[in-house]
Amino acid sequence: MNSDFFFTLQSGEQIPIIIETRHGVRNVTLRPKTMPKKEIHVTKPWSTSTKFVLNFVESKQKWIEKIFNSVPSKEHVKPGDTVEFFGRNVLLKHDENIRSNKYLNTDKTTLCIGGGADMFERRVRDFIKSELLEEIKIIIKTTPREYWPKHISLRDTTSRWGSCSSTGNMSFSWRLAFAPYEVMRYVVMHELSHTKHMDHSPEFWATVSQLYGFGVERAKRWLAKNGQSLHKYF
Ligand SMILES: [Zn+2]
Repeated sequence: MNSDFFFTLQSGEQIPIIIETRHGVRNVTLRPKTMPKKEIHVTKPWSTSTKFVLNFVESKQKWIEKIFNSVPSKEHVKPGDTVEFFGRNVLLKHDENIRSNKYLNTDKTTLCIGGGADMFERRVRDFIKSELLEEIKIIIKTTPREYWPKHISLRDTTSRWGSCSSTGNMSFSWRLAFAPYEVMRYVVMHELSHTKHMDHSPEFWATVSQLYGFGVERAKRWLAKNGQSLHKYF
């Protein structure tokens, strides 16, 4: 979508304002979007002028700044970098002569990535994803079989850490790999509990506590406070 209007952040960065006129809406609504692109989406009634909309956006300046400033810019990873995943600081190395990626030590703190240099980042990501999938499966197997999903997949969603469909398919954000292990385990138990309760009723939370054990509130607080930082890489 093209935009003729921009909102300028204090940093100088220009955020496109996308205005959509809609039948049946009564108010101007403003949605700053940070993913996949930074944009400000506005819907307005036919009767509202563009000038009014732009003034309205301007009046929300503080709020808009706060939202865009809370999004870290993506960090790229390269050989020699240390990346924290599964609670470990892992040093990344590159060796184009090896075919498969492997840890160079038993405490899994040095990871050697094989293949061409141009594929390095992609292979780091794929490696982390496949490890996360294995970890999730291990966690699931600690629960009674009645909670097990039919299928699990990983996604790169920004709004949800996990989801569970009524047909027993479960998906998780691959970025949970960057969270502390216990936080990732909480998200898994949360979704598994949805196989019994599709809501967030007291019965649902009782099931979460039963599966997870003590510390549910702490894991929730961690995600609320630090969740955004899990998006910093790639
Ligand atoms: Zn839920």
